[in-house]
Amino acid sequence: MVKRTDKRPARPATVHFVGAGPGDPELLTIKGVKLLKKAAVVVYAGSLVSKELLRYCSKKAALYDSASMHLKELTDIMIDAANSGKTVVRLHTGDTSLYSAFGEQAEILERNGVPYDITPGVSSAFAAAASLRKEFTAPEVTQTVIFTRLAGRTPVPAEEDLEALASHRATICVFLSARAIEEVVRLLIKGGYPPSTPAAVVYKASWEDEISITGALNDIARKAKEAGIKRHALIFAGRALGGKETRAASKLYDKEFSHGYRAKK
Ligand code: SAH
Repeated sequence: MVKRTDKRPARPATVHFVGAGPGDPELLTIKGVKLLKKAAVVVYAGSLVSKELLRYCSKKAALYDSASMHLKELTDIMIDAANSGKTVVRLHTGDTSLYSAFGEQAEILERNGVPYDITPGVSSAFAAAASLRKEFTAPEVTQTVIFTRLAGRTPVPAEEDLEALASHRATICVFLSARAIEEVVRLLIKGGYPPSTPAAVVYKASWEDEISITGALNDIARKAKEAGIKRHALIFAGRALGGKETRAASKLYDKEFSHGYRAKK
């Protein structure tokens, strides 16, 4: 029989990646709250995750802000904690599936034999839609939403540049690009959106100091600049964001239309 000489548990604890939601602490999922309550170690992206969320953590939890850390530093914290049997929560703003760099962390955990799971969160894109009181998909206008960004230090593949995406005239939601809103607008118009296309900018969706601005592609950059918005904001464009004159009625609630849950009356 092999005698274990160290105190390490036979299996490492699980690292839970949790989507923290857009900012409002009440927009964290119940599952996310439960995980935060039981976590011994919490690593959060301090630049965007609201500190209010940390109130859900146990007083004994060790909290680390990943804002100033590089990848190895933050994965070392998670791996060491998991190997000593401590439950870890890694909090990412919004949802983990969008611009969170979750994948590279998960790969390192896998290489080190540390199990992980993911709890989704409310993306800032959806919190912004709620603030704007809009549907991104509108019947007979557009049934497609594009999430994208301008290239920054992270490049964007050439076939996905804004001008190419604009040719679809779908609802477009541009992350990480508020500082360059003029360039975003220029490329969207050059690529095919008419300048009169409804557009919006939402700064800090769901936070107390949220600002939401609406207009058209030809004035949204000026309005956002006037409001002093440079970061922490999303840029939207598309006809679905317009008033009801741009929309047809949905078939879902049309009484002439039957579907699996409702026979024609
Ligand atoms: N995973 C996150 C996005 C992270 S990338 C999500 O699903 O929302 C960071 C970018 O997201 C910011 O530059 C900004 O464009 C956007 N963002 C994050 N939180 C935001 C908020 N509350 N309001 C508006 N934009 C936000």
